[in-house]
Amino acid sequence: MENQAYKIHIIGAGVSGLVAAKVLEDHGFCPLIIEATDRVGGRVKTDNVDGYQLDHGFQVMLTSYPAAQKYLNYEALALQHFLPGAAVFQNGKQKVLGDPLRDLSLLLPTLTSGIGSISDKMNILKLNLLLKKTALQDIFAKPEKTTYNYLVDFGFSEDMITTFFKPFFSGIFLENQLETSSRMFEFVYKMFGDGTAALPKAGMEAIPKQLKSNLKNTKFVFNTKVKSVEETKILLADGTELESDYTIIAAENSDLIRGNLTQKIAWKSCDALYFEVDSRVIDKKLIGLIADKNALINNIFYPTSLESVAAGAKELLSVTVVKAHNLNSEELQKQVEVELKQFCGIDHLRFLKHYCIPKALPKLANLKYEMQPADTRFSDAIFLAGDTQLNGSLNAAMLAGERAALGIVEVVKGN
Ligand SMILES: Cc1cc2nc3c(=O)[nH]c(=O)nc-3n(C[C@H](O)[C@H](O)[C@H](O)COP(=O)(O)OP(=O)(O)OC[C@H]3O[C@@H](n4cnc5c(N)ncnc54)[C@H](O)[C@@H]3O)c2cc1C
Repeated sequence: MENQAYKIHIIGAGVSGLVAAKVLEDHGFCPLIIEATDRVGGRVKTDNVDGYQLDHGFQVMLTSYPAAQKYLNYEALALQHFLPGAAVFQNGKQKVLGDPLRDLSLLLPTLTSGIGSISDKMNILKLNLLLKKTALQDIFAKPEKTTYNYLVDFGFSEDMITTFFKPFFSGIFLENQLETSSRMFEFVYKMFGDGTAALPKAGMEAIPKQLKSNLKNTKFVFNTKVKSVEETKILLADGTELESDYTIIAAENSDLIRGNLTQKIAWKSCDALYFEVDSRVIDKKLIGLIADKNALINNIFYPTSLESVAAGAKELLSVTVVKAHNLNSEELQKQVEVELKQFCGIDHLRFLKHYCIPKALPKLANLKYEMQPADTRFSDAIFLAGDTQLNGSLNAAMLAGERAALGIVEVVKGN
């Protein structure tokens, strides 16, 4: 049978499903992607509100992600780069901590910040050197411990951990105890060190849109939810049945496959709130960290400190809340406004939008960097992709999509 004659379905048009489609196309297949929502992107979406680009939750692309380098055209995304550091809000003051070796403008503020001891600064250099020369695969082969224990064992002071590492990595791991595996810490830290954090000029959704635009032989059906997947049959929520030679599930799979004994995924959540403000309190392209253990706000950022395609009349402020709370949307907004004034001196806000994201990152044990194509095979005709297979990152989502597609390629070749 010719490759294009195979009926291959991909469930989910997130980054993982889109990369799977690209790899299948490159091998002569013509897949069909079934997506529950109205567009591609999954967790990577951007809305335009009053001229401002609002990502569905604050997230960044790390330019050193190997899979992103392989599948994305950075130039066409017009990536806008953050400075390598952070503005830390503590005791009513703002202090800047950064990597002066990569951006000289951060030298003076970092030296005078008072954050971390000499020994902490030496440890940062030691960690940079260690991770520079450690391969990604080796990071994921190391025994796991919590990030907190890793930092303590590495010799960092409690002050450095509380003031910098906790708010910075809570914003990335979306949990505020640094319980996340040390593998993820080393991976993300290395990725930050080997490249920059960046946003596409048109917002994060430009990433899945670019992946979609590279697809020439893939068909899409949107607003269509899959109810269940059987060996060679897909049942849609509206009762339609589709014949499928091979199916890639690039979405949460536990509820889709009948009799699936794999454990249900637990998720980490967050809230993202956007405000319009008159001016910025952080003058550089830096993320702002709230280093107060009583604060609900974890981090802030002004997306308008970077160039964007759409621009509102004033400045855009993004606020991320990671801590669990019982507040409704209105109460949360009020509390955030109080804290912005209290910790950062920000007031005169106009609220734009609140995103409550209950399934932001999968809570996974035994994090992996990658897997072999054959390991994505759940049954004869069903293959699994999505970041849930490896670790919660764009890099993992892309790699998992690639490997599931290659899993099908291998099976078809062997037939
Ligand atoms: C707030 C936030 C911050 C983040 N920060 C970062 C960051 O800074 N850097 C980073 O690298 N990563 C970050 N991530 C993680 C990154 O966004 C994800 O790892 C990645 O987008 C996962 O892609 P995916 O394709 O595996 O899954 P998803 O994007 O979840 O895609 C799954 C798709 O399947 C569809 N679907 C689900 N069920 C069905 C069904 N039954 N039928 C049909 N379709 C279905 C969904 O609608 C969705 O489109 C962040 C995520 C969030 C939410």
